[in-house]
Amino acid sequence: MEKAWAEQAGLGWIGKHSNLVSAEYGSWLLLGEILTTLSLEADEPATDLCGSCTLCIQACPTRAITEPYIVDATRCISYLTIELRGDQTAIAHELQGGMGNKIFGCDDCLDVCPFNLRAEPTQENAFQPSRWSLSPHLNELSQLDEQTFAIVFHQSPIRRAKHQGLLRNVGIAQRNLKPS
Ligand code: SF4
Ligand code: SF4
Repeated sequence: MEKAWAEQAGLGWIGKHSNLVSAEYGSWLLLGEILTTLSLEADEPATDLCGSCTLCIQACPTRAITEPYIVDATRCISYLTIELRGDQTAIAHELQGGMGNKIFGCDDCLDVCPFNLRAEPTQENAFQPSRWSLSPHLNELSQLDEQTFAIVFHQSPIRRAKHQGLLRNVGIAQRNLKPS
């Protein structure tokens, strides 16, 4: 839970969506740590600037933010699409509908956060999307065999979902997008 340390270090506060929010950079951040024996003066913890805002709570498609600062991981699309193992039956029908076309993670609660309005897209080469991670075609993804999956997502966090998990998510997204 490095975000708790980040809050203590004054980098930002844990917002009502339970992610770290920086007043300067928003919440699309990558945290890093340096372990040292140096004796350093500690910074002041950050102040919570959420105020009366509830945009992230309202934006959540599966009502996973059950109350301010509390996320029920078992309803969160990020957990369901990345961490949860098993076939489609492992995901409650009601939650599958809320997944929409999301096949790896979900950022709806971050998308609406006013502190992300000023976030600058990174120029860092290592973080640039590939054609497989920027609006990929679901039909093409659904045809990926395990070997090709390992090659195209080599060094990508998408490997975390595993081949079986990604194809399960793609199958749910395809069904959600079918005209009823
Ligand atoms: S990541 Fe998506 S599903 Fe999870 S709490 Fe945020 S909006 Fe809800
Ligand atoms: S959307 Fe609003 S309530 Fe949620 S983290 Fe951002 S400022 Fe806080």
